Amino acid sequence: MTNVGDFDGKSTFGTREAGGDGEHLVRVGTENRQHVLGHISLIGYRGNMISPLCTGGPDESALGDPVEILISEWAKQCRDQGGLVVLPHFPDPRLENAATLVLERADAVEMCSQDDFYHSIDPYSLSDWYRYLNNGYLVPAVGGTDKMGTTWAVGTIRTYARLPDDTPFTYDAWMEAVRNARTFVTYGPLLEFDVDGREMGRRMLLTADGGTVDATWTVASATVPMTRVELVVNGEIRESRSVKADADSGYWSVHIDRSAWLALLVRAKYEDKPEMIAAHSTPVMVEVEGSPFFAAADALTILEQIEGLMAYLDTIGTRAESKRTAEMRLLLQSAYRRLHNRMHEMGFDHPHSHSTDHPEHR
Ligand SMILES: [Zn+2]
Ligand SMILES: [Zn+2]
Repeated sequence: MTNVGDFDGKSTFGTREAGGDGEHLVRVGTENRQHVLGHISLIGYRGNMISPLCTGGPDESALGDPVEILISEWAKQCRDQGGLVVLPHFPDPRLENAATLVLERADAVEMCSQDDFYHSIDPYSLSDWYRYLNNGYLVPAVGGTDKMGTTWAVGTIRTYARLPDDTPFTYDAWMEAVRNARTFVTYGPLLEFDVDGREMGRRMLLTADGGTVDATWTVASATVPMTRVELVVNGEIRESRSVKADADSGYWSVHIDRSAWLALLVRAKYEDKPEMIAAHSTPVMVEVEGSPFFAAADALTILEQIEGLMAYLDTIGTRAESKRTAEMRLLLQSAYRRLHNRMHEMGFDHPHSHSTDHPEHR
């Protein structure tokens, strides 16, 4: 932990009050970690540092340390202190992500470049994010470099969050824009995207018959030359079109007959490098009456991760004192039930492990 001394729970560097020009703002938060459950970025919160910063033993915390707190509990504490909760370098390490997202305690998931300027938005990160969107969990994408050393360039991949018109640029307004899912992630290309006038992160409702919507986009890039734009609908590419390298715009009319999320994906390519996924919007959620967002296979993988997490706490994880263990177990049980009961409501049977079987099945 190299810079705990920079955290004071209140200062935003770069503001006019702090002697800056207000054009860029820097705020020190914390990334709390557990080597199996996951990492969590707690951003812009006020007051005391949220601790412990790590738990559960090596190689994040001390030998023999018990698992005494969950990622989802850190997340709640951050929100209670006014902060923004991001699952960084999504999805790994991953064991608790599923529970945190089902409990709706994360404000965003982070697409990460790490030390590679040409890495592309990782399809593996996208496909895992899509699982949650497919089940109706609208969580926006943000971008981060996870800067761990001098070879990582800050800003390689970025979050753009749109503030409402006439809202001054403050750290709180920026956090609110992310919470409202008005974001896209990019290695360079900028984008605007709406569905029948609804911007990224908005929801719209169609009657049970569905209907046709217009997905409208504008893209521009001053850095990496763009090659294609694609419309992603419920995790699959529905439309694809080549674009001019520096700026382009267009729209697609799309027929929607069940609830669907729609997002824009931008591909781009430096001359001497492979094509990359260079930008991705947060989706617009189009709900068709009587057709809830539900994808059985994805829901099952999410459920199984929560099961795995409970098994970890019960078996491999170093035990905390029993009251603490019981509290954590209870929280995870509630995440499990939320999703599990919804799956049964949707009429989806699923395999049960020894520890989660229930009599209604027999
Ligand atoms: Zn991390
Ligand atoms: Zn069941």
